[in-house]
Amino acid sequence: MPLYDFECRVCGRVFEAMAGMEEGNAVCACGGTAKRLVSVGCGYRADASWLPSVTAVVEKDSPKPHVRAFLADPSRANYRRWMAGEGLRPQESGEGRRAPAPRPEIVREVLDRFAARRAAS
Ligand SMILES: [Zn+2]
Repeated sequence: MPLYDFECRVCGRVFEAMAGMEEGNAVCACGGTAKRLVSVGCGYRADASWLPSVTAVVEKDSPKPHVRAFLADPSRANYRRWMAGEGLRPQESGEGRRAPAPRPEIVREVLDRFAARRAAS
């Protein structure tokens, strides 16, 4: 049986356990029910919040090998193969993460200084 990552719904602990392919749950040390994660490397999880938005656009009936492979196993490697097969570029690390919005009081101060400089000239 393959080793899977599970995340406990009660205490949040992530642990590895052997499980059958069909077993979606395991029991955590705390007694809580843990849900199976399909984790395949750093930063990529098959239960990632953005993944459904990707799988939604995958052609479910496509005979293309990279599509079949990704649908059968949405691993990081198959995701990259799928993107390459579709002519898409994978997002670079840090990309898509928006810079935090500046604090309003700082924006205010910058605007005030700007106004003061214009008034002085
Ligand atoms: Zn637990």
